[in-house]
Amino acid sequence: MTNCTFAEINSALRENERFAVLGHVRPDGDALGSQLALALSLKQLGKDVRVWNEDGMLEKYSFLPRAELLTKPPAGPEDVDVAIALDTAIQNRLGTALEVIGSAKIWINIDHHPSNPGYGDLVYIDSTAPATGQILFELIKSERLPIDHAIAENLYVAISTDTGSFQYPNTTARTFEIAAELVRLGVDVGSVSQQVYENFPRRRVELLRELLRTMRFEGKGRVASFSLSLKTAAELAVIPEDNEGLIDHLRAIRGVIVAVFFEELADGKVRVSMRSKNERVDVCAICQKFGGGGHTLAAGARIRGMLAEVEERVLKAICDVVDCNS
Ligand code: AMP
Ligand code: MN
Ligand code: MN
Repeated sequence: MTNCTFAEINSALRENERFAVLGHVRPDGDALGSQLALALSLKQLGKDVRVWNEDGMLEKYSFLPRAELLTKPPAGPEDVDVAIALDTAIQNRLGTALEVIGSAKIWINIDHHPSNPGYGDLVYIDSTAPATGQILFELIKSERLPIDHAIAENLYVAISTDTGSFQYPNTTARTFEIAAELVRLGVDVGSVSQQVYENFPRRRVELLRELLRTMRFEGKGRVASFSLSLKTAAELAVIPEDNEGLIDHLRAIRGVIVAVFFEELADGKVRVSMRSKNERVDVCAICQKFGGGGHTLAAGARIRGMLAEVEERVLKAICDVVDCNS
């Protein structure tokens, strides 16, 4: 499937009036930063813009410039000319926002997930981009869309969070060039980094303590996992956003190739997060076997079943790929 051009997206943006800018459920810094950045650029063009995420703005990203623009979708249907899905590999991961928009004339899909099937009318998927925020920067630059300090900071957070603070292998020279341009636009690296990485509520570290108690290793230490039951989550009074990134503690262990986090959900499913440290071990392919998706090195799925039972099924599927016996 071939991408549309930035020029085609640009025309759709400039020639229409009412927009909805959407991102995936359980949003991360890339989804929220990208949504706000594009929405702000559209607002500067004088457009009528809604910015909706099923989960609304997360507490930990509420420092993002103009964070108040991003809300939960309304209860009833609303008419827009253009709906834009950002950072969303599967259309149903737009959640309730999808139900609100019945009548959009044009759907734009901008993403960096290789598993994205290319839903929508104008599709731009660049799986080499480390973040949707990086694609948006290229779009804004090439089409001379408005950019200012607030937009730059949102894009910086999008790129910083999806590259693991410029550490993951998807970080390229271009990523640093873009980061430099964003810093020149006024992003204060120290202050933004502190807000993203050094401002967690204490309960997140208490959660980490409990997760580490459940830590287990398979396959000669190549597969590490931990899990969170509904009971523990309730006892610690954690909220879903608290666990973003905790899986990195497993990934950081020497010898670990695949890290897995299992989270029991209230709807009878288990949310599985997976990370790989080896390009030859494609966790997206493993997650796709369970109806999920993502990237080669970072993927996820929601699997129906009891926590312990899902753990065993998933760990076995990983061990089959990682060759845990040699
Ligand atoms: P997470 O582990 O939730 O941080 O997600 C890692 C990557 O996998 C992200 O790029 C997600 O977009 C993708 N992903 C997570 N969960 C799912 C899912 N249920 N279906 C498809 N992709 C997913
Ligand atoms: Mn994301
Ligand atoms: Mn992303």
